[in-house]
Amino acid sequence: MIIFKKAADISAHLDQQIKNGNTIGFAPTMGALHEGHLSLIKKAREENRITVCSIFVNPTQFNNPEDLQHYPVTIEKDIEQLIHAGCDVLFLPPVYEIYPPGFHAKQYDLGSLETVFEGKYRPGHFQGVCQVVDRLLEIVRPNRLYLGQKDFQQCMVISRLIELLGKETKIAVVIVPTMREPDGLAMSSRNLRLSETQRKKAPGIFTELNFIQSHVHEQALSALQEAARAHLEAQGFRVDYIEIVHRQDLSAAKDASAPLVVLAAASIDQIRLIDNMLLN
Ligand code: AMP
Repeated sequence: MIIFKKAADISAHLDQQIKNGNTIGFAPTMGALHEGHLSLIKKAREENRITVCSIFVNPTQFNNPEDLQHYPVTIEKDIEQLIHAGCDVLFLPPVYEIYPPGFHAKQYDLGSLETVFEGKYRPGHFQGVCQVVDRLLEIVRPNRLYLGQKDFQQCMVISRLIELLGKETKIAVVIVPTMREPDGLAMSSRNLRLSETQRKKAPGIFTELNFIQSHVHEQALSALQEAARAHLEAQGFRVDYIEIVHRQDLSAAKDASAPLVVLAAASIDQIRLIDNMLLN
């Protein structure tokens, strides 16, 4: 695996690959890699000649400075895992390579995606995500971009970004299913911050998503949502949302006739976890 720290160097290397007719699959990450990230690498390897991963903890997408400060960094282990997974290229830039002096942050028109769910609870988060992904796409210029369903709304935001970038960008978005621990907890770098007691509680979110999935055709959606929220609160979660919405635009669902997804965000003490499940 070749590791690049400079944007110009990785761009020049990948330019040559593109000229040689090689396809590029790209999985952007913030590191502290786990099996979820590695499933993106695996999929990219199946579908492309060259697989590129980036590890960059993007400061502009953290609305909460403490979250940024506590974000886990396990770079040596990450590199080992990527080599083992067969990743060809790792981009590991310092902040000034992504945001060089004089960098102008664009504003992206994300419509209502920006003000609901994660957009509502993390103001500015998705603008930060678009800034970094826009810049990474400019540097890497992949054929396919690999994203995890774990961050359902983020997948929608990045698909919208690619639309905004215009037709000449021609990047296919590939969404990879959520990888879970044996007890159902969605794998996440933030899980490393859970104490033993918190870790035991954490799969409660998955239990409620399952509960909703198995009853979606039997009960009123609002009653299901309220029951799931109450179950989580009774276990000591602070629930930001657990809501059943249309998969296409995240608008509220009235009944189970259209493709739906249930989105959830809840905290155990200071650690905020998100998850989702496709319904019907
Ligand atoms: P992150 O490092 O958290 O920014 O995540 C980088 C990419 O990995 C994003 O596309 C995430 O959606 C994806 N990802 C994170 N957790 C999982 C998981 N448990 N299963 C599949 N993909 C994931």
